[in-house]
Amino acid sequence: MAEHTPTARPNPRPDLNFTPVRNGMDYLARAVDDLTERAGAPSESDLKYAVLHLQAATEVLLKARLVGEHWSLVFKNPGSATLEDFKKGKFDSCTIEATMDRLENIAQVKISAEGRSAIKVLAEDRNALTHYGHTANAFQVEARAARVLSFLLDFITEQLYPMLHAEYNDAINEVFVRYPTSLLTRDVQLEDPAVQAALQQQREVDVTMRALRSKLRRVDKLVEKRMQDLSGGLASLEHRTARCPDCLQWAFVVNDDSNWSPIKCRFCLAVYHQIHEAAIAYARRVTGMVDKTQICPNCGAAHTMVIGAKTADRRRPGGVVEAICFNCGCHVPQIATKELWTTDPYRPHVADGEEQP
Ligand SMILES: [Zn+2]
Ligand SMILES: [Zn+2]
Repeated sequence: MAEHTPTARPNPRPDLNFTPVRNGMDYLARAVDDLTERAGAPSESDLKYAVLHLQAATEVLLKARLVGEHWSLVFKNPGSATLEDFKKGKFDSCTIEATMDRLENIAQVKISAEGRSAIKVLAEDRNALTHYGHTANAFQVEARAARVLSFLLDFITEQLYPMLHAEYNDAINEVFVRYPTSLLTRDVQLEDPAVQAALQQQREVDVTMRALRSKLRRVDKLVEKRMQDLSGGLASLEHRTARCPDCLQWAFVVNDDSNWSPIKCRFCLAVYHQIHEAAIAYARRVTGMVDKTQICPNCGAAHTMVIGAKTADRRRPGGVVEAICFNCGCHVPQIATKELWTTDPYRPHVADGEEQP
């Protein structure tokens, strides 16, 4: 047998890792362009496409990492997965929520509470857009996009890039297996098509990442500038300013006079006419702890207190966990009132120390 004849891979693995990464990064770049290409404010259609592109990017990139762990994991039901269906793309794929759970539980990929929350809000937005044609306003989309983008840039650097690098190493190792040691010069290694292809993939990711970082700064700047414009008006309201359930910026000014007036976000202009709806939205999207029955010990209102809520004056990590009434603005240390409430053990979505200023 001719020893130097390259042999087929002993255990063929679908080489599908790179294509999704490239597609995902392409969607990402387009999402940023949708938001920042135009000189003025983005149009309604720019916003729609920004949401759709960003959602597609997120889904594709998270799933690419999951495929890196094992291709069957992106099936809704991995138990019935077949390689043939996977190659043809003929299967029901798991949800984005399940993707994040599997990444954490199986692939040991830590997804920050901040990232999870941002992705969840984006997925809801995309569903609202697809089913009801509803678009969030420009401020909401920009703030959400900035958060998801910054999560994805870290995710690509920490998770996808090492995966592609491992692919390159695999390619080198396969070259070793295929050639007798006497023929294995550095040139033979580098000229091997598999090694070349893997190197090319890495280079492309590098180039796209650099471009994305500079684009992300443009979106960040938009958000920063608006927060700066608002900072004068918000300075004296820090004791009753929480993060907005819609855009997650520190601009949601709750009531402190028990007058049931609507609650509004100064950043994205989201309005909640019912205080309890604001409390529920906040619990669901910001703290991740969905309360059951709560009566405010100060104003006596039902369903307006949020366990684990924080106001801007106490946003530093650590500190006492409190409950805050969105109707009268009172802060109650959670420890003193713990027995009053039952709390679903949901994962907190925005954890201490991961907040953006
Ligand atoms: Zn908002
Ligand atoms: Zn109250």
